[in-house]
Amino acid sequence: MEYKKLVAVYERLESTSKRLEKTHILSEFLKTTQDEKVLLLVQGRVFPNWDQRELGMASKLLLKAISVASGASMEHIDKVWKETGDLGEAASQLVGKKSQVTLFSRELSCAKVFDNLRKIADLEGEGTVDRKSQLIAELLSSAKGMEAKYIIRTVLQEMRIGLGEGTLRDSIVWAFFGQECKAGYNQEKNILEIEDQEKYDASAQLVQDALDMLNDFVEVASLARRGREALENISLIPLRPVKVMLYQKAKNIADGFEMVGTPAALEFKYDGFRLQIHKKDKKIVLYTRRLEDVTAQFPDVVAVITKRVRGEEFIIDAEAVGIDKFTGKYRPFQDISQRIKRKYDIVEIADKFPVEVVIFDALFVEKSLLQTQFLERRKLLESMIEQEQGVLTLAKEVLCSNQSEAEEFYGKSLEQGNEGIMMKNLQAIYKPGSRVGFGVKVKPTMDTLEVVIVGAEWGEGKRGQWLASFIIAVRDKDTGELKEIGRVGTGIKEKAKEGMSFGQLTEMLRPNIIEENGREVRVKPSIVIEVNYEEIQSSPTYSSGFALRFPRFVRLRDDRNVEDINTVDDIVSMASSQRGRDEKV
Ligand code: AMP
Repeated sequence: MEYKKLVAVYERLESTSKRLEKTHILSEFLKTTQDEKVLLLVQGRVFPNWDQRELGMASKLLLKAISVASGASMEHIDKVWKETGDLGEAASQLVGKKSQVTLFSRELSCAKVFDNLRKIADLEGEGTVDRKSQLIAELLSSAKGMEAKYIIRTVLQEMRIGLGEGTLRDSIVWAFFGQECKAGYNQEKNILEIEDQEKYDASAQLVQDALDMLNDFVEVASLARRGREALENISLIPLRPVKVMLYQKAKNIADGFEMVGTPAALEFKYDGFRLQIHKKDKKIVLYTRRLEDVTAQFPDVVAVITKRVRGEEFIIDAEAVGIDKFTGKYRPFQDISQRIKRKYDIVEIADKFPVEVVIFDALFVEKSLLQTQFLERRKLLESMIEQEQGVLTLAKEVLCSNQSEAEEFYGKSLEQGNEGIMMKNLQAIYKPGSRVGFGVKVKPTMDTLEVVIVGAEWGEGKRGQWLASFIIAVRDKDTGELKEIGRVGTGIKEKAKEGMSFGQLTEMLRPNIIEENGREVRVKPSIVIEVNYEEIQSSPTYSSGFALRFPRFVRLRDDRNVEDINTVDDIVSMASSQRGRDEKV
């Protein structure tokens, strides 16, 4: 196809801001062309979403290519670029002006643009930079003004034609299923008129499911062109990333049970980063939640998977969690996050910041498991994994229907430094790409409170020489009185090198003890700390009238005075803004 035909479509797309009109333009275009590659080009891409190759062209190189193709100096191009604020626009003005252009130019085809851009991504080694710029200059030399504009924009992946993935998906639905659902775009009213809504919705879902699985608009469009059956028969392909299933947030455990049913699988929610682990033909590939290939950064994970996960072909879901090899304790995500983008000293950094691979789901094991119930998927995982604490484990799980058992599990998870818990429906299938309520997360809010310590209790057992549970209070704004709101022990460490420790807090509070009563002490209020919590509840136990559920120490606020801490009024307003929980306060 001639590139100018695609450019005409770009221009029409750019000229309207109406999403439905854009969908219409694109779907009509899809019907007229057999070449689905245009679905990549309209996104400013030459590779599908799952393909990691990139063009890697700096603007400077593009300036050079424009200069070669137009004869204009780099300074001049730079000036026009600044004036227009759009390098594509600048190219269209300059390239169009070159007088002898017609002598050399051939009609540009989409295939030529596509091929040259793909070649750019595959170039490696010496002379790459010049070669890249030549490939663009070659295209620009055959381009008319408007064509130049979109070539540049494609290279920069900034099409500015306002096409989101939703519009692309709908355009496939309209193009290939519009007729059978009797759906038609009414331009005057800017609406889509549909006679068979049910069929339309089912078609849209089918296309969306295929996109979530294959991550490839071109492939999905060509399947859709062949009909419904072609789309229905697709499966996952190991080594090709699949959109991960996401989880909704439950307000609390009771809400969680309501959302996922009972009994539910409760799991620790580990504070690491997600890895989608693929294996096929003895090759292991690791993708992040955003489907970036991070295999090279995690040779340790590849080795562990090779050794400890049986199976020829699989796709499994895991969380990589930082771990302290000496204490066996988890480290917060921030500690290991630098590994994700690391390009050098990979082995050293892997030694310094080891991770435990915690596996929690399977999408494919020798065959697709998307339609298999969670309970079965988990059982399968159990049978194929050789666990070793600190290296590779299955997410800690209990089956549970009971609120108090669930709360205990939640407390235990927080205590061990995890983020919260996941609650999962046992019968649920795996749905790539969606935030369906098949699993929900329960974790303390990100809101924090600044509170003062007014009392504490000596610990027991190995914590016997420390104050281990701290009574915290907020202020009454009017009277200045301190009002208790709960007790916190979670988040404080046993060893000082892991963060604020019980020993350190005890020594800070010891001189402030004003009263001892059995194991409990009262202290002069001076130590301000920041805590987070899962929920604020009304409570007759504490003098503020409220209690924090699952409060967790975040850090010491030695930059704050007691006068600066949160007030009872703050608590009242925070409690009432807890969505849907007003009845509790
Ligand atoms: P969020 O990032 O807050 O939406 O929480 C969901 C994320 O928690 C997932 O994408 C995983 O990376 C992570 N996670 C940690 N532990 C689990 C688990 N047991 N099951 C599912 N996801 C988990």
